[in-house]
This record gives sequence, structure tokens and C-alpha cells, in this order.
Amino acid sequence: MLDLIRRIGLASEQRFILGEHTLRFEAVLRESLDPLGPTGPGGAPGAPGAVDVIACGSGTAALTLTLTAMGVGPGDEVVVPAFGCAPLAASVVGVGATPVFADIDPYTMVADPHEVERRITHRTAVVMPAHVFSVMADMPRFVEIARRRGVRLLEDSAVAQGGVLAGTPAGLWGEAGVFSFVQVKTLGMPGEGGAVVTRDADLGRRVRMLRNHGQDGTRRFVHHVIGHNSRFDEIQAAFQVHRMAGLAERLQRRAAIAEYYTQRFAPLVERGVVPPPPGRDGRCFYVYTLLAAARDKLRAHLLARGVHTHVYYPRPLPRQAAFARFTRPGDHWPNAERASARILSLPAYPHLSDAQVEHIADAVCAFQGFDAADGRAPEETSP
Ligand SMILES: *Cc1c(COP(=O)(O)O)cnc(C)c1O
Repeated sequence: MLDLIRRIGLASEQRFILGEHTLRFEAVLRESLDPLGPTGPGGAPGAPGAVDVIACGSGTAALTLTLTAMGVGPGDEVVVPAFGCAPLAASVVGVGATPVFADIDPYTMVADPHEVERRITHRTAVVMPAHVFSVMADMPRFVEIARRRGVRLLEDSAVAQGGVLAGTPAGLWGEAGVFSFVQVKTLGMPGEGGAVVTRDADLGRRVRMLRNHGQDGTRRFVHHVIGHNSRFDEIQAAFQVHRMAGLAERLQRRAAIAEYYTQRFAPLVERGVVPPPPGRDGRCFYVYTLLAAARDKLRAHLLARGVHTHVYYPRPLPRQAAFARFTRPGDHWPNAERASARILSLPAYPHLSDAQVEHIADAVCAFQGFDAADGRAPEETSP
């Protein structure tokens, strides 16, 4: 990083945004998604169906730019998962549209396609499933639903870079997908960044204009549309190109850690602990998440043994004050409620040593209180 700062900072052009390094990073991402191009070797970017990647300011910005490029706005509804991070709903509100929350699958915790479909109305413009934790959303079902119901499909693949479901990489299932490079993500970096990926050349062109104040990249100060400042940093882009080389290996290490946990936790299933589904297809090991009724006690037990955990997320989105006004009377999300009371994420980052991974698994297995909660988490008993 220090070398890159020196090299880019002292180069004669002194270009710190949207220069050759951003172009290179976009090309590297494109190749990682589509190694042979749409027509085999020689398939050039820009050819019909070729993957386009547009680096931008953040994962949230990637969602906003894509929704804007799709023409989503006031009067439109976007169906999003009830369980996930705030940008899922905030990006929709930000373009003037209305988020509609769909319940999740109780086991995989991704949006339940049936729950999404039953919330589609004549106002629905887009369905926006998200991959979460360790599991990719059921994209084949969402592709089918979007086609049959005539709505657009935006894939929030912010946590799933490198994941593959039935041969198709995360990001390429919808009309567009997004990545985030905020530090906690699998290709995190020391700063903010994101990307839009799409096979739709026209959508890609619009996103590219929107990320830099509506200019088309050929002439400055000619604004075709009202855009944003969502440009990519050259030093970060050069750093990301460097880091991409090790991504596959780091993802392998995460997957191996997850596999080990799932195998160690198999005996706990009878005691009400739910680890993520095994296997590698349609998996993304951003975090390793299990469900346990006595979540808070387990968390304290692990902390006492030096294992720090996270609760992603303690509350479903429609239960957040920020989004409560977008809920419909009578709508409810029992699986999202249940998940937020039980979910716990264990460390799964690639630099953990084997001994640390064993210690974490041992600490979970040594917990005695799994059955004590009688299947009910404390949160569920309060009004
Ligand atoms: C991280 C994340 C985002 C937002 O990315 P930022 O780069 O933090 O703006 C959006 N959606 C999901 C599912 C995420 O995990």
C-alpha cells in the first residue's frame, strides 16, 4: 500500500480517481466472473452478453446507482428481505420507492421465494433478494418468478463475491449484481468501495454515467443525467488488483473452516443448534452463522473463552424505527423474528489458525445450556 501511494502520488498525471488502476480492477473483476467472455476466448467487453463491471463508492452506492439506472422511483415497490442489512431497504427509500419486506426461509435465512412472490403487486418494479451469511439466495427461483411476473431482478451479492450457484457466479444471476469492498467483506479494503456487475451493456453504461455526475467519460462538464459522486479511488484500485490474486485461496480457507465447524456441530443439531447447510455449491462464507435458542448465553460462554462473536442482525428490518413506516398493517415476518433472536456468527476469517478454529469449535461444543432455553429465546417472550 505504501509503495502504491508513493507510485501513484508521484506519477506525473497525479490521478487519484477513475484512472488506469480503476480500469484494471474492473477488468480483473470481469475476468474473475467470466474468464472466457461470452463467446469464448476473444469475447470482447462490450460484446452482447459480456460482463461489465463498474467500480463505485460503496456497496450501498452500487444498489442506489443500479436502482436509479433501472428507472426505479416514486410509486414503485421493491421487494426486499425482512432480514438483512439496512442498505437493502435504505437504497430503495433513497430513490423514492417503497421497500416491501418479505419473510425469510427459517433454515437458510435468505428471502423465501414464495414469501417474495406473494408480495408482488402491480406496483412492484424490482425484486431484490440478498445472499446472506453463508448461503446464496435461491436465484433460479427468483429468475423464474421475475420472468413470470414481469418484474426486474437485482441481486444483492455484496457478501457473496466468489460464490457460485449451479455454475453461475454470484452477481450474474440478476439483471445486475453488486459487490462491496468495505473492510469486513471478503475482498475488503482499507476504505470504502463497491461495484455493479451486469451483462446488460445499456444498464452498465447508465451506471457508469451515474457514478460520476452524469458524464459519459469522454467529455467533462457535459451532464446527460443527474448523477452522484460515487467514483473509485486509484490507490485502492491498485491495492485491490494486488489483493485479487489471493482471493480464491482465502475463500477456500473460509470454506474449509466452515466445513470443519459444520462437521463438529452435527451432534448439536439434536439439541436445537442449526448450523448452515453443508456443501460448497451456492455457499459464500462471509460469516459463519448458526442458530441457537440460548444465543445470548452461548455468546457469553464463548466470550469467556476468548471467542468474540457477532449478532447479524438483532432485529428484522421492518422492526427498525427507520423502516417501520413502510410496513403494512397485518404483515408479519415470523422467521425473521426468530432468526434475529437466535442468530450468532462465529469467526471464520482466513487467517485463523487450525488451533484457533479447533478452540472455537471446542468452546461451542462445551456449552451446556443448549437445551435449557426450552426452544424459546428471551426476546421471544417479551411483547
Ligand atoms: C455490506 C452490504 C451492503 C452495503 O455495502 P457497503 O459497501 O457497506 O455500502 C449491501 N448489502 C449487503 C447484503 C451487505 O452485506
